[in-house]
Amino acid sequence: MACRICSGRLHPFADFGRQPVSDAFVLPADPGEEFFFDLAVGVCESCAMVQLLHEVPRERMFHDGYPYLSSGSAVMREHFRALAGRLLATELTGPDPFVVELGCNDGTMLATIAAAGVRHLGVEPSGGVADLAAARGVRVRKDFFEAATAASIRAFDGPADVVYAANTLCHIPYLDSIMKGVATLLRPGGVFVFEDPYLGDVVERASFDQIYDEHFYLFSATSVRAMARRHGFELVDVERLPVHGGEVRYTLAREGARTPTAAVAELLVAEEAAELAAPATLSAFAGRVAGIRDGLVDLLTGLRARGATVYGYGATAKSATVLNYCGIGPGLVPLICDTTPAKQGRLTPGSHIPVLGPEAFADPYPDYALLFAWNHAEEIMAKETAFRDAGGSWILYVPDVYLVRG
Ligand SMILES: [Zn+2]
Repeated sequence: MACRICSGRLHPFADFGRQPVSDAFVLPADPGEEFFFDLAVGVCESCAMVQLLHEVPRERMFHDGYPYLSSGSAVMREHFRALAGRLLATELTGPDPFVVELGCNDGTMLATIAAAGVRHLGVEPSGGVADLAAARGVRVRKDFFEAATAASIRAFDGPADVVYAANTLCHIPYLDSIMKGVATLLRPGGVFVFEDPYLGDVVERASFDQIYDEHFYLFSATSVRAMARRHGFELVDVERLPVHGGEVRYTLAREGARTPTAAVAELLVAEEAAELAAPATLSAFAGRVAGIRDGLVDLLTGLRARGATVYGYGATAKSATVLNYCGIGPGLVPLICDTTPAKQGRLTPGSHIPVLGPEAFADPYPDYALLFAWNHAEEIMAKETAFRDAGGSWILYVPDVYLVRG
């Protein structure tokens, strides 16, 4: 099997078995025929890029019914507002600046740019969330971004000062076409800024649920620098971000256009010291993950045996990997509560656990709540004080299986 970036040899290191499309929630009355694929991961022996071995067709993942909303969390709204403010202050200061966001979702970031009166365009293939962005005054093009899209945007709008993408680039197997598009679209001195889950955090926390159909790549500074150089770009800045369980924000500029910050060298050195992409490191990660699976299934089986109730909290895309890899179904977790209307009244993909609205969580409270949205743990636990007061406990499973008592 060959690397999607450089055609180097892939070393497989983890296999999570047969998995559904993570956001394909099914109707109870008409489950239809679900699409499954083998969720296996490998690392390129040449460029160190960690990637899935099998690809899910993009139309199966990013369609009009795509249910994830960037604006769903107060922490994320503030994260994007701060980033927009920084771009406005540092990169969008020339005459008539222009910023393009790839995968703008519901326009959470671009709404701040639009409010400042700055020219912008969101490119978003998922029609439902694109409509939400348009409703907030964001200019949106409903499309997948690739080389041809970039050429037509440049012809109409001129070059961009900033191309930005949050939790989008790692979704896209055909990065070659994206990078060609960015090279076409960016002004000579412009920057390509993107943020995605960081391999270093996934390995350190054993957060295996960051691996699912939509996360085709797990980036590191080492692999991003190699990928950038293939397209005449240099990695000029990196920033560790606490959101979504640990991400890095990468800034690319054309080779020679900017001097890389000290943070780039620091992260590259840290990755080398940790042997982050070494087969031994990644095999050890896979071993820890198998231990988490066994521990979680033992805990849930034991709780069921003594009559305790366990509800899931947050029918996240990430939860698909946990549920299907661990073989957890409605027998162990009878329901999952989620605030996303598009998921409510449906069953989780593959594992077929009913998803109900947040009101079901308190009606009455379960003894335990399995927190699939662990990346928002602080925000959620602060909100659910009544669950704690009712004697409830949270179950978490990264970096290991543990309980947080009320
Ligand atoms: Zn490679």
